[in-house]
Amino acid sequence: MTRPRPDRRSLLLAAGAAATASHALAGSAPAVHARRRRPVMVGSANGLPGMQAQLPRMMDGLEPLDAAIEVVKVVEADPEDMSVGLGGLPDEDGVVTLDAACMHGPTHNAGSVGAIQDTLHPSEVARLVMERTDHCMLVGEGASRFAREYGHPKVDLLTERAREVWLRWKEGMSDRDDRLSPKKSKKSGAADRPYRYMGEELTLEQLLTTHRITGTIHCSALSLEGELACCTTTSGLSFKIPGRIGDSPVIGAGLYCDQEVGSAGGTGRGESAILSCASFLCVELMRGGMAPKDAGMAVLRRVTEQAQRGAAWQPELVREDGLPAFNLQLYLLNGAGEYAGVELYGTHAFSVADEDGARHEQLEALHG
Ligand code: ASP
Repeated sequence: MTRPRPDRRSLLLAAGAAATASHALAGSAPAVHARRRRPVMVGSANGLPGMQAQLPRMMDGLEPLDAAIEVVKVVEADPEDMSVGLGGLPDEDGVVTLDAACMHGPTHNAGSVGAIQDTLHPSEVARLVMERTDHCMLVGEGASRFAREYGHPKVDLLTERAREVWLRWKEGMSDRDDRLSPKKSKKSGAADRPYRYMGEELTLEQLLTTHRITGTIHCSALSLEGELACCTTTSGLSFKIPGRIGDSPVIGAGLYCDQEVGSAGGTGRGESAILSCASFLCVELMRGGMAPKDAGMAVLRRVTEQAQRGAAWQPELVREDGLPAFNLQLYLLNGAGEYAGVELYGTHAFSVADEDGARHEQLEALHG
């Protein structure tokens, strides 16, 4: 009787288990990862469900751009997540506008859409811009029309919950207008249910009192064949000025990848990622030989210095202790499959998927 041939995925999982065991014996860091071909995905905490779904397909050879886009689409379509796509918090006029971009290492090409409306999957439209046009970026009305031309139906993205939060924000903006906040009721209602924002659960109070709430999903992917790609998608800052575009659709800011080096993306205060060309800089520092974590920390130090300089004109950019008054998370992956997740502050999580499975790991904070 012939034994069934193990498929590629089982072989990879077995190789991973053997490598982990040998590291445990040697008590050393898993440096062997740098030498083995293996699929890896790295990104924001809210990418975990999508990574869990795509990991087996990546083990079977799924292309990295397909994987990255499938990962982010899960959150784009989730009405409960208020930071991305359907259910995302709107701009100050109550209109949901989305930003998304993708980049493909092997062809060094990218596509993006900014301030697109009524479109469930802006990540797929960004891919269409990359693959079906000679442009890199479409914005506003043109981007929405382009989406319709390619069969993306018009979808109302403002959910009842997001509309209610927006209205409460508007009512609480000023005590010098004629809008009044609703009287407190003892009865528990929809507002008592936690609000999901970038994988975290927030109260309505937190949603309304946090200055400029941010939320986005990024995924960088390295395929079995060693090809790189990435995707970032968001509804941007809540209650932003209409027309505002963040870092997510800006190639080099919210994401960047170079087949010769690696891939990176960011979430958090988009303006700081734009002003530092954060993702491009991450990749360039890795090109110079830095490990992903060192490159990410160097970019966060640069962002800190830039905020401190900017505070001369915009004091609210820094706290009393002189450090940035905002957060920025960076996710980095090199061509050898080494990765890191770093942030300015906090103990937040990021998502990783490789032969050890899909999981959350803790971001390393520059300023504790
Ligand atoms: N970076 C996004 C933006 O500025 C928001 C976020 O990541 O939370 O639009």
